[in-house]
Amino acid sequence: MASTTRIVKVGSVLVGGGHRPPVQTMWKHPLKADSLDAVEDNVRLLAGLGCGILRFSTPDMEQAELLGALAGRVSMPLVADVHFDWRIALRCMDFPIAKIRVNPGNLGEPWKLKEVAAKAADKGVPIRIGVNAGSLPSDLKDEPDRGKAIVVAAEREVAALDALGFNDVIVSMKASGVEETVRANRLFSERHDLPLHIGVTEAGPLVQGCVRSAVALYALLADGIGDTLRVSLSDSPENEVLAGSEIVALASGKRESADIVSCPRCGRAGFDTHAFTERWRDRIYSIRKPVTVAVMGCVVNGPGEARHADIGITGAGDKVMIFRKGEIARTCAPEDADTVFGEELSRL
Ligand code: SF4
Repeated sequence: MASTTRIVKVGSVLVGGGHRPPVQTMWKHPLKADSLDAVEDNVRLLAGLGCGILRFSTPDMEQAELLGALAGRVSMPLVADVHFDWRIALRCMDFPIAKIRVNPGNLGEPWKLKEVAAKAADKGVPIRIGVNAGSLPSDLKDEPDRGKAIVVAAEREVAALDALGFNDVIVSMKASGVEETVRANRLFSERHDLPLHIGVTEAGPLVQGCVRSAVALYALLADGIGDTLRVSLSDSPENEVLAGSEIVALASGKRESADIVSCPRCGRAGFDTHAFTERWRDRIYSIRKPVTVAVMGCVVNGPGEARHADIGITGAGDKVMIFRKGEIARTCAPEDADTVFGEELSRL
């Protein structure tokens, strides 16, 4: 999976140069002054689940101010997503913002980009150029090779910053189609050593979006392409982070957090494994070491199939058993399962 791109520093996170790709997500609501405490708590939850970089839309100065306030309160690298108004990008860089996402082409006159690049260079803030297939320049819209058109659009943006002597750049080229996304990133990586933020944009609701993203991003990462990634879902930031982390774990062959082995459940199940897994999901994934946790419906396949699990729970008639490495550790009534499982989990 090792990439040979140059390294760009996003806050405390190194992107490129073969570093493990940090998983990104995006905050899905406007910030409000009276909810920054709750957002701060949620940022911590996302960090616990494996989020390395978090992006916020900053469509106006109020959002820039609120993002700036939040950036002073959390250690997570925060990214300002700016379109059209260069003054918002300038204002964001008065705060400890880790990166600006901007398309040079939509800022207007060249002097505006020059001001943004000058301040970014002065503050040591990298810029992500984000090109989406849905918003290509008019002369590229009818190009039959969509992947190539995306690359040409990205190269224009890179050239605009390069002409200003600004090279602290990450590039993303996204489409909602898997083939276009993969082709664009492969083409670009053959020609440039800039780190790539990879993702399938507007990938869809949870299941479709995860499948599309996994197919595209695994293919790229397996080729050594991709230095940071986002799984874009019509779903929660938490699910985007979990999906992205799983893709990185599979592509790298190295897991940094807990793995859940859970059975699909059938008529033999002694307790509701689906609800149990959902209740414990975030707590388990927040274990930042490569342990395996099993949730199995019955003893027919439970402890046997999950014998390598560090800890597991299985239905057993009218009881529930907690097991470790296939050996029964405790037995309890289903209504006590959460309490007993929690006690055992905290001993991991
Ligand atoms: S572990 Fe038991 S409940 Fe779960 S799918 Fe297998 S047989 Fe069914």
